[in-house]
Amino acid sequence: MFDHIAFPTSYQTLDTPYPVQITVKRLDLIHPQISGNKFFKLKYNLLEAKQLGFKQILTFGGAYSNHIAATAYAAQLFGFQSIGIIRGEELHTQALNLTLQSANDFGMQLRFVSRAEYRLRHDTDYQLQLKQHYPDAYIIPEGGTNTFALKGTQEILSPEDQTNYDVICCAVGTGGTIAGIIESSSNRQQVLGFSALKGEFLRHDIQQWTDKLNWSLTDQYCGGGYAKTSPELLQFMLQFEQQYAIPLEQVYTAKMMMGLFDLIGKNHFPTHTRILVIHTGGLQGRVK
Ligand SMILES: *Cc1c(COP(=O)(O)O)cnc(C)c1O
Repeated sequence: MFDHIAFPTSYQTLDTPYPVQITVKRLDLIHPQISGNKFFKLKYNLLEAKQLGFKQILTFGGAYSNHIAATAYAAQLFGFQSIGIIRGEELHTQALNLTLQSANDFGMQLRFVSRAEYRLRHDTDYQLQLKQHYPDAYIIPEGGTNTFALKGTQEILSPEDQTNYDVICCAVGTGGTIAGIIESSSNRQQVLGFSALKGEFLRHDIQQWTDKLNWSLTDQYCGGGYAKTSPELLQFMLQFEQQYAIPLEQVYTAKMMMGLFDLIGKNHFPTHTRILVIHTGGLQGRVK
């Protein structure tokens, strides 16, 4: 199973005019389509599901959820059937977007539900109904963040990463990835999260998973909200890709990188700061 897979990791240090070191940890190279961080989040969930004898994996997401695509792929790879509860019943009659198409290609059974039904996804009674309807399914929450995910995301940083860098940057959606990184970081490191969505609630979500204090979160670079883009963002993304030959996407990694460059330009970091940027992938959802 997953135990035997060594996730390939490669690092790329950027040639920039700034007096800091920027190194990108390329989790995107784990798979050309699937967000690298999602494998870490799924790893112990799938091991648990196998051990408990489940045949199916069921999870939730919106039409642009990288977690949905990743779950479909990983489930198929490890011999599970997969079911995706997707927000928006109107999608049923429309052509699938790139993310849902890839989930479909990996064999996921897509079940489109109304927004009202989707809102019940954390509700105990609703979960019970789902369990009765899908008795063979192991249920993973929206975005994939749970205790098993945290165990996995604590494996993103290697022991070298804990000593070779001063600052670690990561894009944030539900907070499961950064929480694992914070938990496994050294106390002399600072972990800096770039939120892909607006709001203070994420800070509390992250705090649920860690008691450590060596981190901060900004939503200043979320560009007005989740998956919202602007000509400036897309321009930055293209320019970055051309300059460094590292593909980004507009929902998470381009916003993080644009935010990081903005902070560096404003001398936010002391000279010689060694910054490790986690490239979480998500490239199947990149705008063309
Ligand atoms: C899901 C995702 C994130 C955010 O991960 P969380 O654990 O939900 O915070 C960041 N980057 C990419 C590319 C993702 O797909």
